[in-house]
Amino acid sequence: MGMNAPSPPQFLCQRCGNCCRWPGFVRVDDAAIARISAFLQIPEDAFVAEYTDILPSRAGLMLRSRHDHACIFYDGAGCQIHPVKPARCQEFPNVWNFPGWRDQCRAIGPSPVPRY
Ligand code: SF4
Ligand code: SF4
Repeated sequence: MGMNAPSPPQFLCQRCGNCCRWPGFVRVDDAAIARISAFLQIPEDAFVAEYTDILPSRAGLMLRSRHDHACIFYDGAGCQIHPVKPARCQEFPNVWNFPGWRDQCRAIGPSPVPRY
């Protein structure tokens, strides 16, 4: 997006955690692995071993899910790695979503949104 392009309306995540409890794959690429490991202050290989699984396609890694399908970083109140969460998470619902998403996501917007 160019510097002068107007920002599209943005929905603002309220961290309700609903999208963290759906079954699904949250892919992590090398940049995400580096970023999240640094945030957690653990070595990358420890992060991969502890928090990731191989994608069903075997074409990379995804965050591990718990038995109830919730993401391993969802702690019941919110995302434990919110400032560095993977692109797939950052981009919902503004970049990607699905029919009916509005019923399941508490994000507010689009603008005007309150500024704090
Ligand atoms: S990384 Fe965070 S935002 Fe993404 S699914 Fe897991 S808990 Fe939710
Ligand atoms: S469902 Fe919507 S409001 Fe809830 S955590 Fe996900 S993006 Fe944020």
